[in-house]
Formats: sequence, structure tokens, C-alpha cells
Amino acid sequence: MLLKDRIAVVTGAGSGIGRAGALMMGREGAVVVIADRDRASGEAAAEAIRAGGGRAEAICTDVSDDGQIERMIGTTLERHGRIDILHNHAGIQVGGPLTEVGSEGMDASWRINVRAHFLASKLAMPAMIAQGGGVIVNTASNSGVFYDHEMIAYATSKHAVVAMTRQMSIDYAKYNVRVNALCPGWVDTPFNDPFIAQMGGRQAIEDYVRTKIPMQRWATAEEIAEAILFLVSDRSSFMTGQALVIDGGESIA
Ligand code: NAD
Repeated sequence: MLLKDRIAVVTGAGSGIGRAGALMMGREGAVVVIADRDRASGEAAAEAIRAGGGRAEAICTDVSDDGQIERMIGTTLERHGRIDILHNHAGIQVGGPLTEVGSEGMDASWRINVRAHFLASKLAMPAMIAQGGGVIVNTASNSGVFYDHEMIAYATSKHAVVAMTRQMSIDYAKYNVRVNALCPGWVDTPFNDPFIAQMGGRQAIEDYVRTKIPMQRWATAEEIAEAILFLVSDRSSFMTGQALVIDGGESIA
């Protein structure tokens, strides 16, 4: 097992990529703390890990609320005494160009995509230093390394995640804390439902994916979970400050 007895916290782990990564961590022996704002899906993800013979618990957490992030980290440290892995995954996508995105859309993107990663990492870091090391994965997107049309709030906040990850990584490498960014492309999860509706339905997005992505298909959440496992395990033991892009070639096409 790659993560035997490691304590892992994953935000937004009730669905999609976060859930697939959390399940994989559970299969690899980690004790997984599922932190999702949707209580039912968080509990279901924890139950799925336990049903597979792993260890997991859910702490209902809305990462847009500072107090709830403090509770998530504080409760984990009280119960387990350490945090080996922090995967800051929950995020939102507010679509549109500059003239159509309201200030509140920009503020929400900053708060959930960037500030929540900042605060959770800030609160977990002293424990990671004291215990001799740890791993942080910040979910960005391939929109954190290239530019898409009409995505000002999403692209700006996701580029900020990559910048913040790189800055954290050089400041804390000497404490044996590795920090990397996860940059998926199109992954078929409920996250894209609003964009699919905006595009005019399922067929429109299927046509888009087939023509715009060199590999001509979506990723599965499980394919991204493989990259998460690599980043949180010792398999990437000399890797820090990197943005790992898994997007079927979209960002370089
Ligand atoms: P998803 O919709 O399948 O799951 C998101 C989960 O996050 C849900 O369980 C939801 O309840 C939870 N969540 C939402 N807001 C939250 C909050 N404020 N606090 C706590 N939990 C919250 O989504 P997904 O596909 O796993 O994507 C989520 C993350 O992955 C985002 O950061 C997104 O930018 C990134 N991402 C997704 C894709 C994609 O195509 N799916 C591509 C690139 C990056």
C-alpha cells in the first residue's frame, strides 16, 4: 500500500474527481477525511471507502466559510494528531468575459478557488512542519496554465492557484513539505453541467470535446485519481512546485 496509515484531508470529495481521488487514497491505506459541503454525498463517499475495507470519515465543510475550514483542520488534528496529505479540491466555475462577470462572481471565484486553498494550507502547515513533512495538492485546472475564451474569473483564479502553489513549494521545501498543483482538462463530472447547459446540451459538448481535444475524448475521474495518487504518494518524492496537466493534449494543441 502506498499510503498506509497516512492521514488525508480532501475537500470537495463528495463527487467527481475529489471522490475518485479520496477512494483511491482509501484503497492505498490512508485514513481519509472527506470534507464536502453536501453532507449526504460526503457521508456516502466515506461509506464507500469503509465498504471497500478502508478507513474514512466525513466532516461536513463549506470551504467558502473560514470557520468551517478551521473546524475541518482542527477536528482532524484533534482526532488523528497529524495531517500527512491535504488535497484542496473544491472549486467553482463562473463563466463569462470581463463585461459579463459581476464582481460577486469574481469574489466567489477568489474565495473558493484560491483563498480556501490558502487558508486550509496555512492551518495545516504548522502540523506538517512539526511532524517532519507532508504533501499538499491544490486543484487548479488546465485553465491555470493556458487561456480559454470567456472565462475571466475561472482562468484568473486557477492561474493564481498555480502561482500560490509554486510560492508555497519553495518556502516550505526545507521542511519536507511538497506542494503541487493538479491541472485536469475535461473530466466528465457534474461540475460541467452548467457549462453544458450554456452550450446548448450534451451533443454540443460532445462535439466540442471530439474536435478540440487531441485525444478526442473526456477524461474519467479515475484517470485523474491516478495523477492524484502519484502526487500525494512517495512516487513523486522529489517533485514540488509543479503544475501537473492531465488534459488529453488540449492545452498544447
Ligand atoms: P463535482 O461537481 O463532481 O464535485 C464537486 C464537489 O465539491 C461536490 O461534491 C460539491 O458538493 C463540492 N463542493 C462545491 N463547493 C464546495 C464548497 N464551497 N465547499 C465544500 N465542498 C464544495 O466536481 P469535480 O469535477 O470534482 O471538480 C471540482 C474541482 O475540479 C474544481 O476545483 C474544478 O475547478 C476542478 N476541475 C474540474 C474539471 C472537470 O472537468 N470536471 C476540470 C478541471 C478542474
